[in-house]
Amino acid sequence: MTSSSKKYALDFLSFVNASPTPFHAVESAKQRLLGAGFSEIRERDSWAEAVKAGGRYFLTRNGSSLIAFGVGKKWKPGNGMALLGAHTDSPALRVKPVSKRFAEKGSFMQVGVETYGGGLWHTWFDRDLSVAGRAMVRRSDGSIVSTLIKINKPILRIPTLAIHLDRQETFAFNKETHLFPITDGFKPLMAMTERHHPAVVDLIAEEAGVCAGDVLDFEMILYDVQASCLGGISDEFIFSARLDNLTMSYCATEAIIESLEPENALDDESGIRLISLFDHEEIGSLTAQGAHSNLLPAVIRRLSVLAGDGNTSDSTAYEETLVKSMLWSCDMAHSVHPNYPEKYESHHRPEMNKGPVIKVNANARYATNSPGIVLTEEVAREAGVPLQLFVVKNDSPCGSTIGPMLSASLGTRTIDMGNAQLSMHSIRETGGAHDIKYAVKLFKKYFERFSNLEETIMVDSTT
Ligand SMILES: [Zn+2]
Repeated sequence: MTSSSKKYALDFLSFVNASPTPFHAVESAKQRLLGAGFSEIRERDSWAEAVKAGGRYFLTRNGSSLIAFGVGKKWKPGNGMALLGAHTDSPALRVKPVSKRFAEKGSFMQVGVETYGGGLWHTWFDRDLSVAGRAMVRRSDGSIVSTLIKINKPILRIPTLAIHLDRQETFAFNKETHLFPITDGFKPLMAMTERHHPAVVDLIAEEAGVCAGDVLDFEMILYDVQASCLGGISDEFIFSARLDNLTMSYCATEAIIESLEPENALDDESGIRLISLFDHEEIGSLTAQGAHSNLLPAVIRRLSVLAGDGNTSDSTAYEETLVKSMLWSCDMAHSVHPNYPEKYESHHRPEMNKGPVIKVNANARYATNSPGIVLTEEVAREAGVPLQLFVVKNDSPCGSTIGPMLSASLGTRTIDMGNAQLSMHSIRETGGAHDIKYAVKLFKKYFERFSNLEETIMVDSTT
């Protein structure tokens, strides 16, 4: 692996290790954007004055979705945007609102959890688990604030049953009764809540720097404390949780930062470069901050009418912008699995470390079409990044992404793509270390070149 490929792979590891939950992923992206000179704006304020041509901005919704963008100095209302979307969430076990359980006459403390998304849940057994999320806490001045929590030690475990007691060939289990983390019998001095084990509340309070009584509520999920790492004889793999889809969240964030790094990056830019990192993809996206919400359309509408000089236009700028824009819907793809080759269509077998994969599906489970492929190919050629194509077998189920729903609500040209990985939705997935740099370079080139390229690929042309 070249040293620059390795640099990107290692930087991605620090991003994913710092981001056990969507809240942490947004915070990780936010810190990088702030460091690169982006300013935070809020949806509740007017942007007429705040957002200027040549500026770099970001906003968050619910602390778990984020949109960042740079406005070209030649921006005019109704111009196009290079849009890139990914998601911040991954399947996980979430602590129930009332989580306190005891088993075997109180000798085991257990924590009730709910499944979030379509995880490969059998991979959560026998792992060293902890909790992370956000807590609403009361500060000493009486104010109530949201604080990110990440307990850095293994406090929970879902044990498998010894083989001597159950010689089953295939591992089957009940998601309600068997997928149940246990913890030890440590008893705190004060039990501040009846809903959760006081020991768990104490740990969270300690992490937040408040007393247990000041933890008012929390949203916690379980995560594997084993850090993500490089793997393989020559470090060509990444072994990690949440590759789907923190890989694309990371690459999107790095690409927009790098594309806007030069002082003069926006001097000749007539469009807007924008990334949107959505929560809740794994549960269908139909939430206030999911890809099916008004988040992206609302932001595009507000930006489409901005003149960048304090004025706004109220014409058909929004509709014009949508037609001139493009959306790259970026989510992980399936690498061919050497032990199950029969599961893959024989002419579409993407591999790890061979570049981003364009996903095509006749039944619109993916939003890719020919104009999108042509533009992406041109961007990849200029960036020197290899591409691969993926289609599922006709007799196989197919996943989906935020691409089709966003392209339906925006009417914008859309392409679905992402890096290849194995074991998607496992607690420990496998990805290609070289592919991190490939995706960052490709996305960066897309941001740099879209405004010029988009006019050359017309579908509803008059000539
Ligand atoms: Zn995904």
